Amino acid sequence: MEPVEPIRFFLPGPTYVPQAARQAMTQPVVAHRSPSFQETYATVAEGLQRVFRTAGEVVVATGSSTLMMESAIVSTVERKVLHLTGGAFSERWLEISRCLGKAADQVAVPWGQGIDPELVRQALRRGSYDVVTVVHNETSTGVMNPLEEIARVVREESDALLLVDAVSSLGGAPVEVDGWGLDVVVTGSQKALAVPPGLALVSLSARALERCRALPHRGFYTDLLRYADKHRGGGTITTPAVSVVYALEHQLARIGAEGLEERWRRHRQLARQVATWARRAGLTLAAADGVRSATVTCLEAPAGWTPRQLLGRLAEDGWTVAGGYGQWKPKTFRIGHMGEVRATDLEPLLAALDQLLADPVWSA
Ligand code: PLP
Repeated sequence: MEPVEPIRFFLPGPTYVPQAARQAMTQPVVAHRSPSFQETYATVAEGLQRVFRTAGEVVVATGSSTLMMESAIVSTVERKVLHLTGGAFSERWLEISRCLGKAADQVAVPWGQGIDPELVRQALRRGSYDVVTVVHNETSTGVMNPLEEIARVVREESDALLLVDAVSSLGGAPVEVDGWGLDVVVTGSQKALAVPPGLALVSLSARALERCRALPHRGFYTDLLRYADKHRGGGTITTPAVSVVYALEHQLARIGAEGLEERWRRHRQLARQVATWARRAGLTLAAADGVRSATVTCLEAPAGWTPRQLLGRLAEDGWTVAGGYGQWKPKTFRIGHMGEVRATDLEPLLAALDQLLADPVWSA
């Protein structure tokens, strides 16, 4: 594997993109229906099946993940959605349904808690839904929801499709599309795959495609069936972000060389490294025990500091760390450890934080 530059960029997306992936983007831009691009697309399609762990189709859309969260609702919901919420991105999905005029219920847990599969079971016994939506990794709170268990409950209790936002987990934590029976899974290029922003990647189960077929008025850019049909013909529905596809091709090969399971293990180890440091430094982890994310850690700001002051001081020394998100913006900050981050990148960041926290001028 090619050497990695030291990383000083710890956002939970967009993430650091390795130099060789950036270089891959300098290849000449070719026509997206040309044989040369079709070859690239075929390689990418196979690589995506490996990281999504599916024998089914994984389509490539140019746009951000939110486009595909919306497309999934447009393409599969006739009557009603059940949204599992507990953070900003799951609430965004609910808002999308409301913007589209879809009937929507929610199972809401407090921010920082994981979704309890038994609450999902009860909701499915009370109502009937076309789809259930879940955010696997709530980037706003640092919670990773028990996706496998939730998927099992949805299957046991209903015919609803399960739509999954795996935007900030896929490639960094186990997501078994076929093994867990996930119908639509959305991720973005700019997170754990460590590719620049610009592409959304979506797996589609046979059941999901059947549902799309039965539903009229799925829009054009939002029609998942159109993506699947074009994909089968070897390409995308419109002109794709060709250069970002080159970077994705590179990163899929890199992930293959590292080994997907090894990549999951590395991410889990990074989360442990941050949690151990936080406890020692006396900081509070914002996500509950047992549901902490492998790819991002959300922390309450240390006493005497606002997140803004802390991140400002880190930035002066060249470190990029994320602030809180949504309603937690005033009190938390987030360390993204997804993509290509290694223990040896985190060590100096955590040491820099230690030094700041010990600084009597700033901690006064
Ligand atoms: N879902 C999750 C969990 C996210 O973390 C993000 C972005 O941070 C999104 C959805 C939205 O992604 P995008 O900005 O690519 O539309």
